Formats: sequence, C-alpha cells, structure tokens
Amino acid sequence: MQVKLASKRGFCFGVEDAIELAEHTVRENPGRVVALGPVIHNRQVVERLEQAGLNQSADLDTVPEGTTVLIRSHGAGPETFAQAAQRGVPLVDATCVLVKRAQTVVQQLHQEGYQVVMIGDAEHPEVKGVIGYAPNVIVVDREEDLDAVLPKRGKLGIVAQTTHAPEHVAEMIGAIARRPFRELRVVNTLCLEVIRRQEAAVALCKEVDVMFVLGGLHSANTRELARLCEQEGVATYHLETWEQFKPEMVKGRKVAGITAGASTPDFIINDFAEKLQAFDAEE
Ligand code: SF4
Repeated sequence: MQVKLASKRGFCFGVEDAIELAEHTVRENPGRVVALGPVIHNRQVVERLEQAGLNQSADLDTVPEGTTVLIRSHGAGPETFAQAAQRGVPLVDATCVLVKRAQTVVQQLHQEGYQVVMIGDAEHPEVKGVIGYAPNVIVVDREEDLDAVLPKRGKLGIVAQTTHAPEHVAEMIGAIARRPFRELRVVNTLCLEVIRRQEAAVALCKEVDVMFVLGGLHSANTRELARLCEQEGVATYHLETWEQFKPEMVKGRKVAGITAGASTPDFIINDFAEKLQAFDAEE
C-alpha cells in the first residue's frame, strides 16, 4: 500500500544524546553501570542497552557499591544527586538540556517569590524530577482540578511538561488567567522538537486515510501524537513495532501515514514502513 512518512519523526537530540552517553558510559565501565529507570521510553532501545551491559534500578538505595549511576533523559530530583554525593556514588547525567532548563526555571521562580505551578502529568518521571527543585510545586493537568489545587490569590509562576501540546497548555493558562491572580508569569518550557513532530503529524493526517504512530506505549510525546491524529478524525493506531500490526487496521484503506515519537529509533520506523509498503491491503 502507499505509505507516507511525517516530515519530522523519531529521535530528538535529547534522546540521541542520552543514548550516546549511556553507550559511552557502559563501554568505559563494563558491567558496572546502572540507569535509574529506563533511559528513554522505548522498550526496544532499552533492551539493546541492556544487552550492551546497562543494568537498571528503580532506586539508588539498591545500587551496589562501585557502580556508576546514569540519570536518564527525563532527569531526577535534587534529592537523588544529594543522596549519590553522600554515598559517594559516581553519577553520569543524561538529563536532556531542556528538562534541565525546566528544573532551573522552577528553582528561579520559587526564589523570586512565585507559587510555582507545573502543567503536566504528576506521574511522569520528568514532572516528578522537576517539581523537586522548589518546595510545594502544584502539578495540574485538567481544568476541573484547578479550584481544588490552586491558592485563592497571589502570584503564580507557570511552567509545563516539555512534551505537552501547546494547545492544551494554552487552554490551561487561559483557565488560570480567569481567576483573580495578581500576577502570572509563564515561562515557556515546551520542547520545539515535540511541537515540530506534532505539526508534521497533523499535516500528514490530511493526506492519508490511516495513521500509524510508532513508539513506546508509556511515551508521553508518542501518546500525544496519537491523540492529535485521532483528533484530526483519521483512524489512528499507536503501536510499538510491526509485531502489533493487524491486516484489519488497513482494510479498505489506500494511503497510510507513519509518524513516531521522539524516543522511537529509525530501525523501528524503517522496518515498519518497508513491511507496510509491501503489504497488499486489498488482499
Ligand atoms: S523530546 Fe524534547 S525535552 Fe524530551 S528529550 Fe527530546 S529534546 Fe529533550
């Protein structure tokens, strides 16, 4: 069948840097490197890194002595760095520079007297890390929760999870602005890499009758891509690899579009595109 690829898709610079740093660290310290959680939200890439010798732990406490600890692209809270320093655990920091910036911004906003608000998913590792850089950061992601979590007055400093869609963030800021805060300071922490992938995916939706969004099922930016494509009214499937493809997904369709989240490697995209191209939807 005919297959079209989104003009911007797959790996971003933050993920590329994190993988390169992970590979380098493992080469330098064979068998003695542990990542605190998956380096990126892509199972296939994480498995490859594990095969290269990168172990994984959810907790710094359980890391054996003499091990180098890798901080993943989503970053970590300051308590992790403090704990590592206290125990003398060597750290290699693969936090994306844009996540680092969000961490610094949160710290500065607090120092300047703002009540910091982060628009994001409270369960996402990036958000969990960023909010550690100031006390009592409020995390909110739905308009209906605002009254319950925001103070009644004062001045707010607002940031957002890097991978959120600008439209959603704008709606949330609009809803906050309708409340009687004397000052709102919004610092744009959104990632342009993500926005470009979202724009390219939405543009491609206009040319195809089915969209495949490739990437980890836990990847926030991949899920957001799938949500945006669905919103465009195109049949959309969020898959990790070709293994999850089913012929009925393309039944009666002529042109398929492919996009991929910022943590999806080229080998998965290319494999999927080649197999889909060779697939006879009529049959
Ligand atoms: S998506 Fe953006 S913020 Fe996230 S790792 Fe990539 S460049 Fe960094």
